[in-house]
Amino acid sequence: MGRNSAKVTHGRLQIGGEIVKRFIIIGGGICGLATAYALVQKGFSAEIYESYPALKPAGAGIVLAPNALKALAYLGIDEEIKKQGHEISSVKILSDSGKLLSDLSSEKYSLFAFHRGELSQTLAALLPSGTIHLGKKCIGCRQDASGVQVDFADGSSVHGDYVIAADGIHSSIRRKLLPAVPLRYAGYTCWRGVVEVKEKIDYSLLESTETWGRKGRFGIVPLSKNRIYWFAVINAAENDPKIGKYGKKELLHYFADYPQPIDKVIEATEEKDIIWNNLFDLTPLTQYAYDRILLMGDAAHAMTPNLGQGACQALEDAAVLAICLKQCSSVEQAFRKYEGFRVKRVRKIVAQSRNLGRIGQLQNRLACELRNWLFSLMPMKLHQQQMTWIYQFDYNE
Ligand SMILES: Cc1cc2nc3c(=O)[nH]c(=O)nc-3n(C[C@H](O)[C@H](O)[C@H](O)COP(=O)(O)OP(=O)(O)OC[C@H]3O[C@@H](n4cnc5c(N)ncnc54)[C@H](O)[C@@H]3O)c2cc1C
Repeated sequence: MGRNSAKVTHGRLQIGGEIVKRFIIIGGGICGLATAYALVQKGFSAEIYESYPALKPAGAGIVLAPNALKALAYLGIDEEIKKQGHEISSVKILSDSGKLLSDLSSEKYSLFAFHRGELSQTLAALLPSGTIHLGKKCIGCRQDASGVQVDFADGSSVHGDYVIAADGIHSSIRRKLLPAVPLRYAGYTCWRGVVEVKEKIDYSLLESTETWGRKGRFGIVPLSKNRIYWFAVINAAENDPKIGKYGKKELLHYFADYPQPIDKVIEATEEKDIIWNNLFDLTPLTQYAYDRILLMGDAAHAMTPNLGQGACQALEDAAVLAICLKQCSSVEQAFRKYEGFRVKRVRKIVAQSRNLGRIGQLQNRLACELRNWLFSLMPMKLHQQQMTWIYQFDYNE
């Protein structure tokens, strides 16, 4: 798009004499960035307003599954993105004695693991300069027949035609539209870290694994450049002050009887690089489109991370919106069509993710033994089939 020829007359953006719809995107996470790319590609004007003063360079790891890669392929940026990632050929679930319970590897599919900060930077670099405005915390959003106005904490406002609420699980826009819809605490809490592999761990032997035991789950995911992303998930009351204080020393002690190389991975992590979050999802919504406002990503359908699908679904959102805008004669119609495509699929994934969390976080000894026994009896093909429907992303244009 020739941005130099753009001018604003009477509050409307004109490019080459043609009036262009202006989208205001709130939130510069994976959803906001990918959606901005999709909109600009379709010839719309899209600008992102992000509350944080910088695009977060930190953060732990993130895995993109085949459906996310297909969504990126639809947008034409899968190869660019994959270059920054590490291909994962197998995902194994192990018991806390190291026994293989399930192997989700498939010759048909591959997953890619990224450093979150690097994934965001790569998506941001694909946008025209000036698309992202940092340090802009949205505090209000109004719409009427003529357009939308978004107000920011610094006292400024911006006008446009449509708002994309991509402001994450705690979305202020969603809370305003739907104040009664609560987040649901999952019952477990999570620590994450990224660590560079030094001589103590043989990187070449590392596979992507989740170890399930009575004390919780520990995941290891190899990243590019000899790094490992790890996560630890422990059952806890929502505001347990003791658990909230856990750092490296406590995690080392807690997982001391889990198999290698878990202790080495924790040991190698710098205390400052450990991120802690309680885990929540959003009570499933039946409506994402509100006239000129559209909820997307975690703002619309935050889910527990058990299936590793939250960001994948956000990327699907961006691709589906692009498809709907191509198919519909008005943006409002495209928003409703998007809602029609997305609500049912995402609800199913939210529910499946919660269920997997319940199974993975079992604490009772007998229940754990029964689960492990059933898992080991199940043919690997069946485990893989369960993921296949999620990994399909086949929206017809
Ligand atoms: C422990 C854990 C592990 C996960 N692992 C995976 C995984 O492996 N694979 C996967 O697909 N998903 C994973 N997820 C889910 C994934 O992180 C989210 O689904 C994804 O980040 C959602 O992207 P988003 O852009 O919608 O929201 P976010 O990433 O939350 O981005 C929202 C953005 O909006 C900004 N913002 C918030 N409020 C305002 C405001 N008022 N004004 C302006 N800006 C605002 C925020 O600063 C933020 O930058 C995981 C989640 C967790 C918690």
